[in-house]
Amino acid sequence: MGEAMDVITTVREMRRLRSGWPALASVGLVPTMGYLHEGHLSLVRRARADNDKVVVSIFVNPIQFGAHEDLERYPRDLSRDLHLLEESDVDAVLVPTASEMYPPTFITYVEPSGPLASEAEGASRPGHFRGVATVVLKLFNIVQPQQAYFGQKDAQQVAVIKALVADLNLPVELVIMPTVREPDGLAMSSRNSYLSPEGRRAATVLYRALLAGKAAYEQGVSDGPAGVVRVMREIVASEPLARLEYADVRDPETFQPLETLRAPALLLIAAFVEAARLIDNVLLRADGSWETGLIVPPLAS
Ligand code: AMP
Repeated sequence: MGEAMDVITTVREMRRLRSGWPALASVGLVPTMGYLHEGHLSLVRRARADNDKVVVSIFVNPIQFGAHEDLERYPRDLSRDLHLLEESDVDAVLVPTASEMYPPTFITYVEPSGPLASEAEGASRPGHFRGVATVVLKLFNIVQPQQAYFGQKDAQQVAVIKALVADLNLPVELVIMPTVREPDGLAMSSRNSYLSPEGRRAATVLYRALLAGKAAYEQGVSDGPAGVVRVMREIVASEPLARLEYADVRDPETFQPLETLRAPALLLIAAFVEAARLIDNVLLRADGSWETGLIVPPLAS
């Protein structure tokens, strides 16, 4: 364990701390919205292994939430988060207020365009990726990391941030980590806390549908991506507590829908289970191997 962890709430303090670190120190940033779980902690552990200094941000970014979304009820537990981050040997936690990030004078947004910003999550959540790209650029400028860590769970966010870094020539290397799953396959998410015990059982339907889609992909269903989508839809439809928003097969970089079964490809699902809007995906890499995530072992009882 290093020195005591700094908990920072202002941009000024973050800059001061950052400028006191050795010029050659490598800095890794893990942006989060808090209510941390093993998915977040897998990013933090990798950042810790890769860097001299690790900064984790906790900020429920209001501008990436739509007017009727869950900004107000998004789960928060800062003292638990800080305890977990201290145990993970993090150097600094940046916990800015909304008014620190968006003072009344704020007018400058980053606006991704094209299918990547407007389809799939972009269609369901207009303005979402504008909010994401804007806050991520701000965090990069505030912390100035050489490395930044994101989860494959949010596949479209990964693609948007890769485009942001390439398009604006940002001097940061992105490290993308696999989706961490509960023992029954449910992708870990802070939003899983919205689920009742029945909803929690039903929520495994996203992963089950993705695995069925993957199997159809591997078997080469005759009508291509449409057949894979049909298989995924059928599985989600079989779960009464789930309401499908979309099931798609898309290019992982451009998010254009695929017309043939080829690699690389992303199988994507978004569905409501009770009040929780859940997303999940599996990735077929260009080399033909699948990234389906990591299942954590059940806790010993
Ligand atoms: P969030 O707090 O939901 O904004 O997530 C913060 C970061 O953790 C993002 O890069 C997410 O993609 C990543 N993340 C969230 N859930 C998981 C998961 N189950 N496995 C891996 N990474 C995740």
